[in-house]
Amino acid sequence: MADYHEMWAGLGLDLKTHDMLLEIVGKGYTDVFLSQKNRPKGMEYFDFVMSEVHGLRIKELLDAKAEGRKVVGTFCVFVPEELVLAVDAVCVGLCAGAEFGFDEAEKYLPRNTCSLIKSAFGFKLGKVCPYIESSDLIVGENTCDGKKKAYESYKDIVGNLYVMDLPQMKSTEGRALLKAEYKKFALKMEEISGRKITVESLLKGIEIANNKRKAIHRLSALRSVDPTPISGLDALLANQIYFYDDPIRFTASVNALCDEVEARIKEGIGVASKGTARILLSGCPMAVPNWKVPFIIENSNAVIVGEEMCTGERGTQNLVEAKGKTVDELIDNIVDRYFKIDCAVFTPNPNRLEHVKEMVKKYNADGVLHYGLQFCQPYQMESKVIERELEKDGIPVLLIETDYSQEDAGQIKTRVDAFVERIKS
Ligand code: SF4
Ligand code: SF4
Repeated sequence: MADYHEMWAGLGLDLKTHDMLLEIVGKGYTDVFLSQKNRPKGMEYFDFVMSEVHGLRIKELLDAKAEGRKVVGTFCVFVPEELVLAVDAVCVGLCAGAEFGFDEAEKYLPRNTCSLIKSAFGFKLGKVCPYIESSDLIVGENTCDGKKKAYESYKDIVGNLYVMDLPQMKSTEGRALLKAEYKKFALKMEEISGRKITVESLLKGIEIANNKRKAIHRLSALRSVDPTPISGLDALLANQIYFYDDPIRFTASVNALCDEVEARIKEGIGVASKGTARILLSGCPMAVPNWKVPFIIENSNAVIVGEEMCTGERGTQNLVEAKGKTVDELIDNIVDRYFKIDCAVFTPNPNRLEHVKEMVKKYNADGVLHYGLQFCQPYQMESKVIERELEKDGIPVLLIETDYSQEDAGQIKTRVDAFVERIKS
């Protein structure tokens, strides 16, 4: 990587701490990803993106800003990227997956807050996230109680927070609220960019976002074969980079990877031998560099064949219909797609269970590992229902509750080993 210290200093990062963070993440990446055997060559692109995630990509964002484009940072898959793209702004994910700056974060948050929220605070307070510092607007959303109350303090810390209200029930009123919020958000996008959303610009935004999803759908479908042609870790990485990369370049890179993976399937090349235990991951999102549990699974004689998560199929499933004569009609299509997201903050939320069952079939999974972040009530609550209902159907389920620390890695490994043995017995 080139020397970006001047750029980082310009963004106000704490250079010493940031260097430390990059070193830890770089080492983690080498151990987790580069140590894998028999990876598709197409993963080199994603390795490159990760090696430049705080370098070249940030430079691209700053170049875009210099051209007058805006950068919008988000924490949730409910924020419609289509509306950001429609004003030629850049959308970037801000969720962080590392235990960093938690002591500082706990000055604002109770200790029993999930790691995802704490790291959003820790990265800002520790001045180590160039994405946060490059964002012209940061979008929060009223999803779980933890997030919605945390944004009250986050607002003062970042100074450019916009909070979107979200429904909690899939009712007519809930849909109307989502539409009203998306219309308000469209106005906000127009306001910060100084551009008008037109039918043409919104159709273009819809097309770019749909193409990105279609490429990921294509990659996911290829994982249904045995032997699995790509590791779950690599597929997760693509799903994580989905939130950072230039969308058009990302789509082309995923499609190129799929071409290669298709060829591997024809030749019978897999990342693990035929008959290896196939696990579906389900639960809380896993933001970069949260690779602990997938790494353990894939080093326990098992492969991950799908992710029912926001950094996975919950985040990418369904497309927006690219048909409409007015901006309002297109916003309706956007609402139709996003209203189907089956996040655990909705009550009741039967579609998520159905989706997990459907994914088990589609990807020929032998069992489900439910990943719940400690102190995340919505997903912890639903994990019990998922366990009960799936076990009733004869699908083995393992519930893992963890945080971002490495302290419980040994314990989790023991439980995963036992689970894989159970699946294969
Ligand atoms: S789990 Fe829910 S709140 Fe979190 S990113 Fe996904 S949709 Fe948003
Ligand atoms: S992991 Fe759970 S508690 Fe944490 S932000 Fe997401 S929904 Fe909220």
